[in-house]
Amino acid sequence: MTKDLQYWIREGQKMTADRQRRIRRTRDWKFDTIAVHGLYDASTAHKSHSGSVMEPVYLSTAQAYENSAEMEAGLSYQMPTWCYTRIANPSIYFLEETIALLEGYGTDLETSGLATSSGMSAIRTATDPFLMKDDSLPPPNFVASAKIYGGAFQQFRERRFREQGIEVRWVTAPSEIESWAEKIDAGTRFLYGEFPSNPSVDIFDIESVSDLAHSAGVPLIVDATCASPALTRPLAFGADIVIQSATKLIATSGTTIAGLIVSRKGIPSKVGTDEMKADFATWVKLWPFRDNGPALHPMGAILILNDMRTLRLRIKTMSESALKVARWLEEYPEVDRVHYPGLSSYHAHDLARKYMQLADTDENQFGYLMAFEVREQGANQSVNTRKFYDALEMIWRATDLGRVKSVATLNAISTHQQQGEEGRKLASVKPNTVRLSIGLEDPADIIADLERALKII
Ligand SMILES: *Cc1c(COP(=O)(O)O)cnc(C)c1O
Repeated sequence: MTKDLQYWIREGQKMTADRQRRIRRTRDWKFDTIAVHGLYDASTAHKSHSGSVMEPVYLSTAQAYENSAEMEAGLSYQMPTWCYTRIANPSIYFLEETIALLEGYGTDLETSGLATSSGMSAIRTATDPFLMKDDSLPPPNFVASAKIYGGAFQQFRERRFREQGIEVRWVTAPSEIESWAEKIDAGTRFLYGEFPSNPSVDIFDIESVSDLAHSAGVPLIVDATCASPALTRPLAFGADIVIQSATKLIATSGTTIAGLIVSRKGIPSKVGTDEMKADFATWVKLWPFRDNGPALHPMGAILILNDMRTLRLRIKTMSESALKVARWLEEYPEVDRVHYPGLSSYHAHDLARKYMQLADTDENQFGYLMAFEVREQGANQSVNTRKFYDALEMIWRATDLGRVKSVATLNAISTHQQQGEEGRKLASVKPNTVRLSIGLEDPADIIADLERALKII
């Protein structure tokens, strides 16, 4: 048989059908089973990966083709191929397929995933296409919660607004639907929120905000890094695109910087082709992602995949510890306020109960992240806060979170230093705000370290 273009296209169709079959089978599994296996099964291992039980690391920049017809079929995207590691790579596929299934878990949605070099590049890559030039529309703007990660705030304000002139409309009270609605107009291209936000641990009503976005014909993009798909899956509540900084809880060991984008099939948008709207993450991967180049290293993909297998079990333990620590802090006299969605004093506790539920249980769990304010003598001070912070012994002082190790951060002088007084106010970051990311240590030891350091004040 001559292996001509038609032959390779048929081979490609068989590969696609096989992948669809594995997706259908895998979707019926429970969350942990999907996280452990993804689409990588024994038949795939025997057929294509020398029987390797664990997903292999393909440290290769490119894929070789058997003949010119296969190359032509592959590079014209007429058959599944990986070509070149800036576009795709088998190790990266294992990760993308697993996260796509986990974000769509418990729904009938078809989802696709894309891995990027960092959480920041995932945000950039997922928002770029909606800001494309279109002279038939008013000048573009987007509506974003102001309670977001400092890096995302800077990307929006400095890169999008100052450099590109694209207006960012900040929502200062994301848990109130009106504060989103009043910002939307004919120029709005997408809505953007974080669930829960880093570092102020704020949340919003994903369902109402996605209804609002859809009635304006635009997508809702949600960064759910601080919840993870084991607690909150925004696509199930109507969001169109989810972003994860896989750097955090997903790759809890702290070895790798990476981002993940997952989209549902068929998203609304005022701009772009039908192909883009039909399968956003795949379209991005094949076109702008290829041209812009924010690819992940294959080794990173496997390190992340290995940590991701235990995601649900870890967040359960971390959440249980975090609630104990938050309750303890709330009672402590030197602590003014604790922001943790699991506390009944939390301003949107009902919303948190609606959206934060451990997969495959009916338990509410509220994650590993909290923020608290240390009592100071006057407003805008950080004397006591710094004394406490510098006295921590076991808990790490770093700008990091989601680690297997507990980490505390003073956001006003680190993640939110560059955005100035005004920006910090928008994000509810005060000089005495401490962000605390709870790890897998015994909670008694975490509390003991906090108590000892608070006593120094
Ligand atoms: C850390 C973080 C990011 C950025 O991710 P990187 O992997 O550090 O680039 C984005 N969003 C949230 C909520 C984060 O915590």
